[in-house]
Amino acid sequence: MSSPSSEPQYSFATEEEINSFGKHLYKSKRILALCGAGLSAASGIPTFRGSGALWRGHKAAHLSSIEAFEANPGLVWKYMMDGRHLALQAKPNAGHEALAKLAKKKKKGFVCLTQNIDGLSERAKHPRDRLYSLHGSLLDIKCSNCSCDYYDKENLKDPLTPDLTGDDNLASFSSTATSEPTTSLTSQLFSMTIQESKKPVIPTSKLPHCPKCSSVLRPAVVWFGESLSQTMFDEINAWLDAEKRLDLMMVIGTMAEVYPAARFVQLAKDKGARIAVVNLDGGHLGGIQLRKQDWLFEGDAAEILPVLFEGTLEN
Ligand code: NAD
Ligand code: ZN
Repeated sequence: MSSPSSEPQYSFATEEEINSFGKHLYKSKRILALCGAGLSAASGIPTFRGSGALWRGHKAAHLSSIEAFEANPGLVWKYMMDGRHLALQAKPNAGHEALAKLAKKKKKGFVCLTQNIDGLSERAKHPRDRLYSLHGSLLDIKCSNCSCDYYDKENLKDPLTPDLTGDDNLASFSSTATSEPTTSLTSQLFSMTIQESKKPVIPTSKLPHCPKCSSVLRPAVVWFGESLSQTMFDEINAWLDAEKRLDLMMVIGTMAEVYPAARFVQLAKDKGARIAVVNLDGGHLGGIQLRKQDWLFEGDAAEILPVLFEGTLEN
């Protein structure tokens, strides 16, 4: 029988790596985190890379665009409803909770940016003034008319309307690996499916309409082709610019490929931050180049974050 102390305690890193990160986190005064879909994977919400790459044969990333919504709002609403339903059924995981606790501990020294639109960080009680949801939230509904200010925050109704029900399981979501779309879809899926699709999944008349101006309502998320909130950027930049240095940047469950994610990683390096990446797939880190002083923790964020933060949260 081998002695338990000879076995590595965790598969995602050596004890030495975990300790060196732990010490750095403990003494860090200014920390930035950038989270992506991988953070919510353990809560059962598919990422764009894996089982959520396709939705009913449509590329999920393509459906998350303003062009898709303009061409076929009923189809995009149905996709968004499935996401909303999944998000409302899901529970925050230990990763969301660990980040929320760290935010309470480090207070103004920690800013967390999330690209997720599932509202799970909020539901894990992450302090709202320490969390920026860069891409909005599926739980918020706004007017599609940009000159109308109608905004319905944290609408938890599910289904949203009798016609807008979300499917009960993950069957609508699939990966390219296990479920190939038809040839026509594979070739030019976006132009074919969205622009030429004659039959919307839900007719526009049955979509929710704005009580103020009667335009079609939409989820308050930032789709491809849309700009992120300038006010939010100004606040993040003000925090970043308040001091010359940043001690640590954590990149969690994202390849940091989508703008402005990649920009933040570079900015953090320029400010002297050490980078810690937590990702299931350390081989595909998009634009992130790790250096000797950085860390890669390869595995599930829900398992890794509580271990990494333990020493800091306890002291
Ligand atoms: P992505 O789907 O492009 O990539 C997910 C990343 O997470 C990959 O690098 C993958 O290796 C990693 N990953 C998967 N499971 C993980 C786990 N258990 N632990 C740690 N890492 C894991 O997601 P993205 O980089 O966030 O960017 C794409 C866009 O997708 C974003 O704009 C985001 O708004 C949107 N999106 C959001 C959700 C959500 O709100 N939960 C889900 C899917 C996509
Ligand atoms: Zn309106």
